Amino acid sequence: MRIGIDIDGVVSDSYPCWLTELNLHFDRNVAVIDDYEMHLVFDVSRDAMNDYFVCNAERLLMAPKPITGAKEGIETLLREGHEVIYITARTPEEKDVTVRWLSMCGIPHEHERVLFAGVSSKLELVKLWGIEVFIEDYQVNARLIAESGLPVFLLDASYNQEELSSGITRCHSWDEIIKGIQAIKG
Ligand SMILES: [Mg+2]
Repeated sequence: MRIGIDIDGVVSDSYPCWLTELNLHFDRNVAVIDDYEMHLVFDVSRDAMNDYFVCNAERLLMAPKPITGAKEGIETLLREGHEVIYITARTPEEKDVTVRWLSMCGIPHEHERVLFAGVSSKLELVKLWGIEVFIEDYQVNARLIAESGLPVFLLDASYNQEELSSGITRCHSWDEIIKGIQAIKG
């Protein structure tokens, strides 16, 4: 199958790293990111949050560790004959640093199969590339993609605790994601 994989919160363990950095920068003491809209969590304007990320992109995107089990899970998918396409809401300007991070972490990827939705819709890329299964952590994207008829695996996180609509399976680890995908195949 052709599998679409989000990056932040699915492959890159971005949020714990960003939590520390944002607390320092904005002089906050946030313990948990409980909303995907991080400017709300840190009580700053959307512009202030965007500016901070744009000005510090290199550091904020290179610093995170991979999510536990992501590398091994992706290797398993490839070994079992699946195709992997990364689809992130990062901007096209962040492609260079994103691909460098994937290489640094030894996470298998093909340069032309790392796609950047930016402010446009991930769903358009999902359709354009004929994705058959998607792995995501943001429940809004998960719902949009599931509504288009694709099975979606949502990696559990502090900011996605809402009840899930049909077609979305909550997983607590990459092992669970892999088992879910193997169950579709079988
Ligand atoms: Mg994400």
